[in-house]
Parts: sequence; C-alpha cells; structure tokens
Amino acid sequence: MTVALQHIGGERREGRGEEVHVILDPSTGEEVARGTGASAADVDEAVAAARTAFGDWSRRTPGERSEAMHAWARILGSRAEELSALESRQGGKPIRLARGFDIPGVVDNVAFFAGAARNLEGKASAEYSGDHTSSIRREPIGVVGSIAPWNYPLQMAAWKVLPAVAAGNTIVLKPSELTPLTSLIFAETAEEAGIPAGVINVVTGSGLAVGDPLISHPDVDMVSFTGSTAVGRQIGAKAAGQVKKVHLELGGKAPFVVFADADVEAAARGAVAGALINTGQDCTAATRVYAHADIFEVLTARIAELMGQVTIGAAADEATELGALISLAQRDRVAGMVDRARETGAQVLCGGRVPAEAPEGTAFYEPTLVIGAAQDSEIVQDEVFGPVLVALPFETDDEAIRLANDTPFGLAASAWTGSVFRAQRASREIQAGCVWINDHIPIISEMPHGGYKASGFGKDMSQYSLDEYTQVKHVISDITGADHKEWHDLIFTAES
Ligand code: NAD
Repeated sequence: MTVALQHIGGERREGRGEEVHVILDPSTGEEVARGTGASAADVDEAVAAARTAFGDWSRRTPGERSEAMHAWARILGSRAEELSALESRQGGKPIRLARGFDIPGVVDNVAFFAGAARNLEGKASAEYSGDHTSSIRREPIGVVGSIAPWNYPLQMAAWKVLPAVAAGNTIVLKPSELTPLTSLIFAETAEEAGIPAGVINVVTGSGLAVGDPLISHPDVDMVSFTGSTAVGRQIGAKAAGQVKKVHLELGGKAPFVVFADADVEAAARGAVAGALINTGQDCTAATRVYAHADIFEVLTARIAELMGQVTIGAAADEATELGALISLAQRDRVAGMVDRARETGAQVLCGGRVPAEAPEGTAFYEPTLVIGAAQDSEIVQDEVFGPVLVALPFETDDEAIRLANDTPFGLAASAWTGSVFRAQRASREIQAGCVWINDHIPIISEMPHGGYKASGFGKDMSQYSLDEYTQVKHVISDITGADHKEWHDLIFTAES
C-alpha cells in the first residue's frame, strides 16, 4: 500500500524526494506501507509553514492552546485502538505493549501538556535595583526542528512536539523513516482538535536526505533530537556551528545494582521485565546487572529461568511477550555483540541465538543473559539495543557504585536494596538522569526524563521540558522618571 509520508502546512502529501521508504513489520516480514521521502524543497516548505504559523500560535493565550490540546487528547484517546495496532505493526512491537504503554502514555502526555501550557514559571517581578521594576518573560523560541527514533515512534514524537507547541513554538518533526505512520496521524489529529495548520509538520526521510537539511535550515531556531549518541554528537556540532539551541536525548546503558539485602525474586523479575521491554530497544532498559557476590548465582539462575519462559512471537498476537527487533540489520548487530562476548571468554547462560523456529525474513533474537564479561568489554560498555542482559558480581558497596558509573552513559539506573541508607547513597552517587529504587522502567508525564554524561542534556516530559522550549527575557523598567539617573555619574555628573 502506497501512502503519503509528509504532513506540511495542514496537507498530507507525497514526498518529492529520491528515496522510497518501505515500512515493515519485522515480526512477520510483511510490508505495512511504502511511500516517497521528502525532498529538500519539501523541508523548505515545512519550515516556511511552521514560520508562518508561529505568528498566530505564539500569540494565542495559554488557555487557548490548552483547550486545543485537551481536545487533542480526547481525539487520540478515542482512536487508541487503531493507533496501538499501527504502532505495533510498523515496528514489530507486541500489541500488549503498544496498547498498554505506548499509546496510553502519549494520551496522558498530551493531557499533561494541555495543563502545563497554562503554568509557565519564573521569578517574581520586583525592584531588585531599587530604581527599576524587573520582570521575567518566558517566550517561545520559534521554529523547532525535531528528529525522533523508531523505538517508541509516537511517544518520542510526543515528547518533542508537546512541550514545544504547549509553549507557543511551531515544529517540523522528522520521525524515523522506519516508523513514520503514527506521527502523521498525530499531526492530523492535532488539527482536528483546533491546532492550526502549520503548527505541527512532519517530514519523512533518512537522516542524510531530510534530517540534515532540517537541522541545518537557517530558519530553524532550535534543534531537538532523540537517538543514538553517535548521531547526537554530529547534530550537536552542527547546531553549535549555527549557534542554535539544542536538546539531545541520547543512548543509555542502565546499570541495575542488586545489593546483598535486596529481595532477590523482585530483583530477578525487575531485571527480566526491565531488560526485555520493547525487545530491549529502550534507552533506559536494564542492561548491566551488578549483583553482590553472595546472591549472584541465585539471582542469575532465576533471571535465566524467567527469560526462558518468555513467549516470542508476532507483534499482532495477543500472547506475544517479546517481539522482533526493528530490522534484520539490528538483529545481526545484536548477535554480533553476543558472539564477540562469547569469543572473548564470556558465558551465555540463556539465549544467545536466533530462535530456530523463526520464519525467514523476521528479526527475532532470544532473551539472553551473559556472565563473565570484562567490565571494559564491548558488551558491558556499549549499547546493545536488544534483549541482552549482562551480569557481573561485586563485593563492596563502593565497588558497586564505581562499576555502575563506569560507562560513558548516564541516562537511567536502578538500585535494589532493603536498606534506606543504601538506597539514598545510590540515588546520590549514581550519575544518571533517573535512579529507580526497587524498580526499573516506570515513567510519568509529571517527572523529567533526560540524561547525564554522553546520554545528552535537556529534559523531556514534565514542567522542566517547557524550560527547554522557551527562552527567558528580562524586562527592566525605570521607575524614577529622572533625567539623570544615579548610575550616569559613572560617565558624567548631574551638573554636566
Ligand atoms: P539514530 O541515531 O540512528 O537515529 C535517530 C534519528 O536520527 C532517526 O530519525 C534518523 O533518521 C536520524 N538521523 C540519523 N542520522 C542523521 C544525521 N546524520 N542527521 C540528522 N538525522 C539523522 O537512532 P535510532 O537507531 O533511530 O534509535 C535508537 C537510539 O535512540 C538508541 O541509541 C537509543 O538509546 C536512543 N534513544 C534515546 C532516548 C532518550 O530519551 N534518551 C529515547 C529513545 C531512543
């Protein structure tokens, strides 16, 4: 089925670029849709539409913006089943995940930002100098160019679009060319809800053909990006060259620290769910279990047992717990990392292979637990982005914290313990944008999500993300009415 993959100035239309994008369900190998990517001229038109819409949208009252966003949340909620099915098919994501997490999360996010639009914060106006009244204006930045990944297509689009438009900006979003379908419906439903055409534009294409011209466009005022650290570095460098504000949400390699006093059964269940969610293609997924030596064996045995019970299958099948990876290329990348770990002395306690019964053209990989890898090896240091967990033992609390912090990433982490002191110490000393205690994965619209270190900077979700998409202006008004102000004495006297 051929579909139009662009939404520009309120019009859904075909791209005029050179690329044809085939959107697949990697859990069946079936084609879901195909369409033509955007051209540089399409990107220009999308940016121009966003610029034109900015004048009106940025001057709407927060209440008006909020009302449209509340209506949008209701429309999305009424189409949740259709959106879940599409989100599931275009990435091979189990339907239970799309229905239970992706789409409800987006609807809740829209409702949250509808409220947040009316709640911009700042310092009190006052006469800080004595002779002037100072006040703060928090203003939208202008046209935002956003790039999103394929792992949670609609959630990632929402995390970029919602704070931007709630704050009065307009946006051109480039979803991943592998998963653009729900982002296009997102833009259409925004307009049905009363958000004017041109406020949200979607251009689909590859990073080089569409992403690069978008972020480099002279009329794009701010760049926001969610994706890998490697691409984030390039985008950050380009934005810096043009002195554009940039928000980067990048890769992760979350540690999962299990102290000797932890509930081992809870930790084992948490590790399996936290590692396998979205087939491990989650930037906050549990990836490195550090367990105290006293419980290491019992914990890893239980994790392997639970991993072995997970049902792998087609995305649309209600019984499927673990879906496919996004592509055969991603599956082969994951397999290559596990194979190299094996070759360098690590042991694979379970999984570590493509399921024997996987149909041709599908991208499945078994839930995998690796032990005995070196802390400085690839499988411990680099993002695998697959259903693969590595476990290593530790002896002391100091060592656990040191190992947890010993990768370039800092997006998320968890600590498992029955001790309030250990929990507080881990919260303080683990360098990550989120630290869970006795859990791993839950996120909420009211609280920020964003990285430390090479996981990027800036926050998605929550009131903090409105800060990313606004700029602060100081307005300072003389209240003396005097011709000669006291500070003029620095240059000339009142008698001059
Ligand atoms: P990716 O970096 O390959 O691509 C992300 C997006 O950037 C895609 O839309 C892609 O087309 C585009 N792109 C690629 N090269 C580009 C270039 N040179 N210029 C402009 N755009 C370009 O990442 P991915 O494989 O789509 O997603 C997986 C990555 O995203 C993982 O590293 C994951 O950790 C990360 N991620 C991070 C978060 C977070 O919140 N920190 C959330 C989800 C995913």
